[in-house]
Amino acid sequence: MCVFCKIVNGEIPSYKIYETKNTLAFLDISQNTKGHTLVIPKRHVENIFDLDEETAKELFVSVTKTANLLKEKLGFDAANLLNNNGKDAGQVVNHYHIHIIPRYGNDECYFHEAPHDANFEELSKLHKQITE
Ligand code: 5GP
Ligand code: ZN
Repeated sequence: MCVFCKIVNGEIPSYKIYETKNTLAFLDISQNTKGHTLVIPKRHVENIFDLDEETAKELFVSVTKTANLLKEKLGFDAANLLNNNGKDAGQVVNHYHIHIIPRYGNDECYFHEAPHDANFEELSKLHKQITE
């Protein structure tokens, strides 16, 4: 059984923040920034490619509520949502989870920015490939 399933069934302790019938939010054991929280479906779903629509809806409402609860209690006004799907994307725990990472000025939490040069030819080709 995976580590997050163990958290859901109480075999491993966690600091719960918010809970609904099918979702759970709890503090990440390794706090990227103060309040770093994970929101998961209680049912074992590996990643975005396996997530059913009903659970996705409930999960994103939980993400919204949890983000606002953290914001209210911790007093930040910025946050990153992060979700790694699959090994090549950096997913380590294979139970779907969305990271809520509160951001504070000078918190030294750094995400690479995408380069800003736009290649419209490439974008157009890519758009065709996806939509046609
Ligand atoms: P991933 O790289 O898969 O998106 O991130 C997995 C996250 O799960 C990491 O941020 C890691 O700190 C967190 N994590 C791993 N094991 C545990 C655990 O037993 N309890 C909690 N609360 N978080 C965990
Ligand atoms: Zn699991």
